[in-house]
Amino acid sequence: MRLQNINDVVIIGAGPIGMAMATRLYQEKIPFTVFEKGDCVGSNLLEWGHISLFTSWEESMDNESVCFLASKGVDLSHLSGCPRSQELVEEYLNKLCDHLPINTIQKNTEVTKFNFNRTTQSFTIEISKGGQIQTIESKIVIDASGTWGNFNLLLPSADSTRENFYSGIPNKEMIIRDMQGMNIAVIGNGHSAMNSILELSKYGVKDIKWVIRGDSPKFGKSKVGGKSHELENLVQSLVENEQVKLIPAFTINSSQRTDNVIKLISEDRKILENIQYVITNIGAYPDYSFLQDITLNLDGRFMTAPRLANIIDPHLHSCDTVSYTFSDTLVTDIPYFVVGMKSFGTASNFLLAKGYKILDELTQSIKSTQIIPSREGSLH
Ligand SMILES: Cc1cc2nc3c(=O)[nH]c(=O)nc-3n(C[C@H](O)[C@H](O)[C@H](O)COP(=O)(O)OP(=O)(O)OC[C@H]3O[C@@H](n4cnc5c(N)ncnc54)[C@H](O)[C@@H]3O)c2cc1C
Repeated sequence: MRLQNINDVVIIGAGPIGMAMATRLYQEKIPFTVFEKGDCVGSNLLEWGHISLFTSWEESMDNESVCFLASKGVDLSHLSGCPRSQELVEEYLNKLCDHLPINTIQKNTEVTKFNFNRTTQSFTIEISKGGQIQTIESKIVIDASGTWGNFNLLLPSADSTRENFYSGIPNKEMIIRDMQGMNIAVIGNGHSAMNSILELSKYGVKDIKWVIRGDSPKFGKSKVGGKSHELENLVQSLVENEQVKLIPAFTINSSQRTDNVIKLISEDRKILENIQYVITNIGAYPDYSFLQDITLNLDGRFMTAPRLANIIDPHLHSCDTVSYTFSDTLVTDIPYFVVGMKSFGTASNFLLAKGYKILDELTQSIKSTQIIPSREGSLH
């Protein structure tokens, strides 16, 4: 185990929010390191790289970072329409990575633990890189680690972690290899479930059951525009043309498996039989398990900052009606800041465009605190 004091600011995660924060710190000449557990920037985005964002290129990229790239001669003004998630990585995040100093983005490096010493006012952070554990120190931690991958499981049993259960949005290769000709249940009422249905139907799966808790799908409720309406319209027509069978008011209570066939049982004892594959799109949660001895002030409903929980309540607000400031996102009095998708906890109405704005306030706050001494000249 090695202890080295490397930087003033550590950013966890090189997704669009972590990279936008890195760009701001670089421009402000504040030393930082981004730790990314994947082997490339935007590695969560690549997990659903085949899916189109419902926001445009302009809304999906960070304006500060686009200006930074322009100052380096990278012109992104030709990009129009809504990108696929993979395109956002290839055309934008990779370029940002190429123009930030190479040692500031540490890939294949997972933050596994950290704690805060109130006497020294510093964090001790454990990172794992290629099986080697290192310990570093930092004055500020910015957590942009997202929620993708920390999926809510379908059932409190081990069944949902077994074969023929998948959390995520299946891609062409997976569908052709594992799901064609099968009787598939898609669980969930959000855009991820709609994307899963669309992909299954695109690659020839005929027997799709769409299981939702409520009485009807949330068609037409999204106000974010862009491709969200297109997605909802396409799925609505699949339901209306009976290419997808809607199973409403079905809250899953348990499942039974006989050989490779799954039976889903609802809370009111309805039964859905002969399912061969279950795709769950019922949300994800923020993982705080790497914090040691740090108590956060989190709202129990959505695992967000208490003030933010009232503002973003997804039962009352869609992505576009949510309006919040940096101070609404604070979860502790120590310099640990949760940004991006993770700041919204289990709520799914986070938008990149609004998340980038919070970073401006966070940057100003870091600049004005006494935590980081002011510096002159270039750092990297
Ligand atoms: C299917 C889907 C469609 C969406 N469409 C849109 C849209 O159209 N428009 C929009 O504005 N928003 C959309 N969102 C919401 C949101 O903008 C995205 O989820 C976006 O990826 C959030 O960015 P982020 O940087 O906060 O997190 P992420 O993109 O999830 O990035 C987090 C990064 O942290 C890394 N990481 C995680 N844990 C660790 C660790 N312990 N140590 C080191 N690294 C770690 C991950 O590998 C990842 O690279 C969508 C979300 C989903 C799931």
